[in-house]
Amino acid sequence: MITYDKAKELVLANIQDFGIQKISLDKAIGHVLAEDVFADRDFPPFNRATKDGVAINYAALEKGIQSFPIQAIAAAGSPQKELKSSDKCIEIMTGAVVPTNTDTVVMYEHLEIEEDLVKLLKPVKKGQNIHIQGSDEAKGTIVLNKGTKIEAAEIGVLASVGKIEVLVKKMPKIVLVSTGDELVDVSETPRLHQIRKSNSHTLKAALLNETIVANAIHIADDKETTKSEILEALKQNDVLLLSGGVSKGKYDYLPKVFEELGVKKIFHRVKQRPGKPFWFGKHKETNTTIFAFPGNPASTFANYHIYFKPWLNLSLGLPESEITVILNERFENNTDLTRFIRAKVKMDSAKLIASLVLGNGSGDLTSLTKANGFVLLEPNKIYEAGAAVPFFSTRTIL
Ligand code: AMP
Ligand code: MG
Repeated sequence: MITYDKAKELVLANIQDFGIQKISLDKAIGHVLAEDVFADRDFPPFNRATKDGVAINYAALEKGIQSFPIQAIAAAGSPQKELKSSDKCIEIMTGAVVPTNTDTVVMYEHLEIEEDLVKLLKPVKKGQNIHIQGSDEAKGTIVLNKGTKIEAAEIGVLASVGKIEVLVKKMPKIVLVSTGDELVDVSETPRLHQIRKSNSHTLKAALLNETIVANAIHIADDKETTKSEILEALKQNDVLLLSGGVSKGKYDYLPKVFEELGVKKIFHRVKQRPGKPFWFGKHKETNTTIFAFPGNPASTFANYHIYFKPWLNLSLGLPESEITVILNERFENNTDLTRFIRAKVKMDSAKLIASLVLGNGSGDLTSLTKANGFVLLEPNKIYEAGAAVPFFSTRTIL
């Protein structure tokens, strides 16, 4: 059995490159850019009015002119107009091109308009209310760097530079494998000795947050079936995320099946709770990575966040997000296992404060909904209230 630190190191030493692909802009959210994106024109592309009002030539004010007849109206979306004479003005709408021979925009709120004559009511600053061409980005500069995770703000930038297709890192093809004869489908009414499957549903949902759509299969506790189904799954996927079947039970066939199929075991069993029987390996022939988590829902859930998510992020070239939180109570870890304890983290006086959610062990599924992550507590260590500890978030906490 290895330590958590060693296990994590080995998992991260086995990251994988899934290649790149072109996808349409409307599918790009959540993916990682595999190309630099350039401004195809200046940002903004022309001197743009930022207020509704009138455009004037400031030199007229310097000559003492305070009221201006309206020459024309410049609407957003119409070509640039020209102010023919500096003692006149052009009405202008937000988003319109500032007319030639004007350099200042005064908003309606600071004007009085009577019969096409505009009077200024407030002092005016030269150049006000104009978003100058190229002042955000000049044409040709990089507006998004390769390696950036595409979120809603990036989608806006991609749209404005005309990227209908984007080169992104490919996501891994993943199959979720649940095992166990006690498990029935969600739609079924379980008999006394049965339970409904939940792990593959949890993992499927978690992966959707990463924009990965995974397939799920179920394998009965039968060695030959397990072997043929796993072989097929290895051929068709980059990653197998399994739950159950890796502990010491008589029907926990997975470790033996992996061995017989020539999957390289990188480790089995980690000094941690929950999730101790975790099995991790790699199938060289098909280049498939195998995360076989113990079946207890909290074990599967914790290990997904502790090992798989950092592995995925690093594989995609994203940084591992490391969060430290403050324990608000004493905790004595008097085991030689790294403990991952459900915790509810809240922001308090600009600090992330963690209250422990002490559930009923790794089979306790409902207490996962009362927490927003797991705190990591080292073996044989006493933590006083106020101690800083690593935190693995399982949901958005801010
Ligand atoms: P195992 O790791 O196969 O020994 O399973 C450990 C515990 O987790 C058993 O009580 C199983 O019934 C339960 N379990 C295994 N797989 C699932 C699953 N997909 N959904 C819910 N519970 C599961
Ligand atoms: Mg089982």
